[in-house]
Order: sequence, then structure tokens, then C-alpha cells
Amino acid sequence: MEKIILHDKEFVLSITPAQIQDAVSSIAAGISSDHKDDNPLFLSILNGSFMFTADLLKKINFSCTVSFLKLASYSGDASTGIVKELIGLDEEISGRTVVVLEDIVDTGTTLKSIVAQLKRQNPGQVKIATLLLKPDAFSGDVHIDYVGLEIPNDFIVGYGLDYNQLGRNLDGIYKILPDKAGQPG
Ligand code: 5GP
Ligand code: MG
Repeated sequence: MEKIILHDKEFVLSITPAQIQDAVSSIAAGISSDHKDDNPLFLSILNGSFMFTADLLKKINFSCTVSFLKLASYSGDASTGIVKELIGLDEEISGRTVVVLEDIVDTGTTLKSIVAQLKRQNPGQVKIATLLLKPDAFSGDVHIDYVGLEIPNDFIVGYGLDYNQLGRNLDGIYKILPDKAGQPG
């Protein structure tokens, strides 16, 4: 069991680098068979998706473009809760096939907000690819076209994903271990 410590928490290897690459390859194969003639725009959601994006794009062997988006979160009013605004979308997406690249979909709230904002700019079509999906947390409000791996509801780090900014550089994915008091995180 390969264990690591980030800040105050202990994590154990859960998905190996080879398993991740297999999942990335299967997503690349799906996108290739559906969109090789569409000159798609890949939209990578920062920060977490940077590693997935780099590895996926190396497996795409047809004409495409890539751009990066960051979400700015701020507190809205009490009824809307957290509102997330896209920053960095300076591309013309009208008429394009847009493939959103996410590291992980948990409840799907983030993704729902991204898709709604993209659709206002009249893209040809919006497809979603996520490396990881937590089906037990997912609301199902948005259709996800390509899923690399389904995982349980554990907090994970590595391969772009962080715990308070640490762990993004890890080449495998690690899940949190319960702390000594038995708390899960
Ligand atoms: P959602 O809006 O789908 O509930 O959450 C999506 C975002 O929550 C992800 O883009 C990611 O930033 C964060 N997230 C969800 N689950 C995890 C996890 O297990 N580990 C880390 N590091 N981030 C997570
Ligand atoms: Mg993300």
C-alpha cells in the first residue's frame, strides 16, 4: 500500500498511472470515433484538468483546437448560493463542436453551470468528457458523453486534483484515509 501525507491527511494509492492512461485512451478513442471530422474545440476546466488535458490531447490524431477556462466562484444571494462565472472564454464557439474536459464530476453542479453558460454562445454542440465520475453523488442533471472511470464517494487527490493545492503533481490517484479519530477527512 503506497501511502503519502499532504498537509495533515494521509492518502493511499487508489488508481495507478497505468489505469489512468487506459481510461484516457478509452475517452480519446470515443471522441475520435465521434468527432474526427468536426475540428472540435477542447475546453479544459482549470486547474484540475491540466494533466488529463495534456495526456488526452496527445492521443487525439485529427484537427482540433484547445483552450482553457477557469471558474471564478463568488457568493451570490441566499437563494442562488454559489455562482460560478467562466473566465477566459475568449474563443468564438458559435457553430463549433465544443468538448468540455473535466477532471472529476461529483454532484454535477459545476458542470451544469458551465454547460448553461456555453449554450448561451450558440455552439454547434457541447459534449462532456470527464476522467472521473462519482455516480453516487451525481445529480444526473447534465448528460456526460465520455467517462473514464467511475469511483466511490471518497475524497481523492493526484493527477491534477489537489488537497488545499497540494498533490496535483502526483502521477497516480490517491484516496483519503480516515484519520486516527476515525473521521473520513
Ligand atoms: P461538483 O460541482 O460536480 O459537485 O464538483 C466538481 C468539482 O469539485 C471538481 O471539479 C473538483 O474541483 C471538486 N471535487 C469533487 N470531488 C473531488 C475529490 O474527490 N477531490 C478533489 N480534489 N476535488 C474534488
Ligand atoms: Mg474540476
